[in-house]
Amino acid sequence: MALFTLTSAQKKFTIVLDAGHGGSDIGANRQYDFGHPMEKDITLGIVLKLGKMLESDKNMHVIYTRKTDTYPSLTERTDIANRSKADLFISVHVNSSPSKSATARGTETYVQGPGQNRENLEVAKRENDVIYLNEQDKQTFASYDPNSPESLIALKIQQSKYLEKSLLVGSYAEDNFEKGGRFSRGVKQANLHILRMSATTSVLIETGFVNNYEDATYLSSEAGQKKTAQEIYDAIQKYYKKIHGNDDFNEPKKVEEKKETPLKNDFRILLMSAPVKYNSTDPALKGLNYILTLKENGFYKYYYSTTNLASVRDNNLKTAKDAGFKNASYATFVPNQKLSSGYYTLELAASDKKLSSNSYLLNTLKGVDRQKENGMFYYTYGRFSTLEEAVKIQNDLEAKGVKNTVIQKISK
Ligand SMILES: [Zn+2]
Repeated sequence: MALFTLTSAQKKFTIVLDAGHGGSDIGANRQYDFGHPMEKDITLGIVLKLGKMLESDKNMHVIYTRKTDTYPSLTERTDIANRSKADLFISVHVNSSPSKSATARGTETYVQGPGQNRENLEVAKRENDVIYLNEQDKQTFASYDPNSPESLIALKIQQSKYLEKSLLVGSYAEDNFEKGGRFSRGVKQANLHILRMSATTSVLIETGFVNNYEDATYLSSEAGQKKTAQEIYDAIQKYYKKIHGNDDFNEPKKVEEKKETPLKNDFRILLMSAPVKYNSTDPALKGLNYILTLKENGFYKYYYSTTNLASVRDNNLKTAKDAGFKNASYATFVPNQKLSSGYYTLELAASDKKLSSNSYLLNTLKGVDRQKENGMFYYTYGRFSTLEEAVKIQNDLEAKGVKNTVIQKISK
């Protein structure tokens, strides 16, 4: 089995470490007989130890929001994560319970909770170009109303990936704390600024309760901080191994040559059939690219993607359903099949007015046909016996600036 490594594998895995609080913001604290442990010192102690461990791994690139006793604002902290296109953001904190009894103890890890979409969209629009496939998409997304569900498809897919990954990191960390003898309160969801505003996989780890004597003693000690750092480090390593080479997480670093045998037919995903024509950027197509529009008997059929691999076909169908086309199904096309009767043609334009003879369309192309039907003028071009020929000419026209044409199947 052939394995090869992509050059993109050379890109380091970037981790932003955020020691909570700092400077005049001392965070949770409590006076004890042995001293006055403050959250800002404990978080910095753990983060510096964790950072040192990570820096010795050549696959990792570590960025700190602070390395000394200073106070970066919450926005500055998340800006660092977003601008560095970090793969992982880890914010370290110390808990405090309101009760005087101080029975609350142990660790807990937060991931972003529900209801974050609006702000996440803003963050992603501002900081995270990866969701935009091209300039066109950028314009489309920029004009989107964040309240409309369709507009969030691309982002939702991305956000659910972040959440899924954040839950993984969180559960690994909590598992390690528990194995190490700590009391784990588990992974929880909350709507926290520092998580909400980070457009990447993000966790906030509460490493223990400062008002619990046992936790406070442990977290104030060098040994306790080192062990906590080690447990987080092990969680990061486990996560890193899990997502590498795992296509489910969309970060292919190692590609295994597919052994799948291509099928003899092509498959396209039928999204919908409608009496109206949508251009490729219309929101009705929910941001999906690679659309083939095929007109037949007055109806426009919208097909997404094409493949002759069963696994890709199934993936494409899932993508279409995730995008909101609940009734999507796949359609089989025999490659280069010649129509036994009738032909394919390209519908260039449909208009209730006649095109002027010096219009771009009529000036660019020779041999354009015009038909009038129910008060509409239909302009068509060419006759092709296979769909592939029609697609080829459609691409040629696109290159000449004749866009949004539709392949029409004429049965005679
Ligand atoms: Zn805190």
